[in-house]
Amino acid sequence: MSHAVNIAIDGPAGAGKSTIAKRLAAELGYIYVDTGAMYRALALYFLEHSVFLDDEAAIESVLPQISVSLGYQDGAQRVYLNEEDVSDRIRKEEIGNAASKTSAYPKVREKLLSLQRNLAEENDCIMDGRDIGSFVLPNAEVKIFLTASVEVRAKRRFDELKEKGEAAELSQIAEDIRVRDEQDMNRSVAPLVQAEDAVLLDSSGLSIDEVVAAIHRIIAERRTA
Ligand code: C5P
Repeated sequence: MSHAVNIAIDGPAGAGKSTIAKRLAAELGYIYVDTGAMYRALALYFLEHSVFLDDEAAIESVLPQISVSLGYQDGAQRVYLNEEDVSDRIRKEEIGNAASKTSAYPKVREKLLSLQRNLAEENDCIMDGRDIGSFVLPNAEVKIFLTASVEVRAKRRFDELKEKGEAAELSQIAEDIRVRDEQDMNRSVAPLVQAEDAVLLDSSGLSIDEVVAAIHRIIAERRTA
């Protein structure tokens, strides 16, 4: 049996990873695995059960009570927290910020690692996150490090929230993004870093179509290399 094809897309918050990864997965016929959603599902549990986010021991002690799994409905990824579909509830800024805090704890990361690796072993997939190319899937066929300036990322998030009718302030979003970048890049376990063999793509001045096309070219180049 030939092994599954894995494509890793990493990068900071708001770089467009999920939009791009979803498009690519649909075009290539692969599954899309959003690892940020898994960290968000755990964060939702901590918030709903009033577990203090700064208390690593308390977070660790509730981990055995939590199960996170993924499913697919009409090609779209759904995330389940103890069997309940929480896909929509995890999208709030508050949950992303909490996930950034708790994802720094080694036991939290360990809990999700085998789920991520198993999905990649069994399926052709595009997996996005922070440490996919550098740690989760070191042998991925193609690795992309997708980034954009803080200003551009903040503006994209702002527009997204506005579209959903959620109140937001641009300067606050930019500040949240800076804090998240700082936390994600400086934690001691599996920090956000560009893998040595990843291709850097700055999407600041590019449209979604242009980024997707650029990645298709990178994939084609790898295959003929
Ligand atoms: O990508 P998203 O914003 O959904 O991720 C939420 C948080 O989960 C990130 O800020 C990051 O701290 C964490 N995360 C991670 N490793 C991943 C994916 C997400 O630490 N592979």
